[in-house]
Amino acid sequence: MYKEIKEEIIDVARQAQREGLCKHKSGNFSVLDRENGLLIVSPSGIDREALTTDDMVVMSMEGEVIENISGTKPSSESLMHIAIYKVRSDVRAIVHTHSKYASVFAVLKKPIPPFLYESMYLGCEGHTVPVAPYGRPGTDELAKNAAAAMRTGNACLLEAHGAVAADPKGIREAYLTACYLEELCEIYHHVLSCNGGKEPDLLPAEELSKWSYPSEIKIG
Ligand code: 13P
Ligand code: ZN
Repeated sequence: MYKEIKEEIIDVARQAQREGLCKHKSGNFSVLDRENGLLIVSPSGIDREALTTDDMVVMSMEGEVIENISGTKPSSESLMHIAIYKVRSDVRAIVHTHSKYASVFAVLKKPIPPFLYESMYLGCEGHTVPVAPYGRPGTDELAKNAAAAMRTGNACLLEAHGAVAADPKGIREAYLTACYLEELCEIYHHVLSCNGGKEPDLLPAEELSKWSYPSEIKIG
C-alpha cells in the first residue's frame, strides 16, 4: 500500500538527515490519507540510510497498525501526529525534528516572534511560533500539548525536545516549513547574541499580511 507516498517520505527523511535537521535517529515523518483515515508513518528508531518502503508503517487514526511489512513499530510519536491531524482538518503531512536552533529556543521556552519576513511562511497566530508545554516524548500529554499549539499554525516548538511542522499540501512542503523554522531560530539566536540579549524590533502583523507578488512585473 502507498508505495509512492512511502518513497517520498523516505526521500524527505534522508534529506532532513543530510541537511542536519534530523540527526541520527531523531525525528519522524507522516502523511495522512484523509479519505481512508490512514496514516503512513516512519518507523521507530530506524537509521534513515537503511530505510526501505517495507519499513514504513500504515496505521489508523485510532493507533492501530494496519501494515508493517518488515515488522517495524510505527514512530513513538505517532500519537502526536494523529492528535495534530485531528485538530487540523486541513493538514496532510507532518515533520518532527530535533533541529539544533529550534531546540535551543524549545529548551528556553521562548516563542519566536515576527522579527524577519520569513515568519509569515509559518502561518502561526500573530506570526509568532508558540512553544508547546513539556510532555514526555511518546505520551498523550505531549500529543495533546503539541496539537493545542498547532491548532492555529503550521509550526511549533516542543518544550525541552524539538520542533513540529505541518502542511496541507504534502511532506515536501511540511519539510520546507521545518527548514524555515530552523533558519528563523538560527537567525534569532544570532540576532539576540549580537544585540546583548535584547529583543529586536518586530514586524507588525499587518505588514506581514500585506505581501503579494509585484503587479509591476508583467508576465506573458
Ligand atoms: P521515533 O524513532 O520513535 O520516531 O522517535 C524519534 C523521536 O524524535 C522521538 O521524539
Ligand atoms: Zn522527538
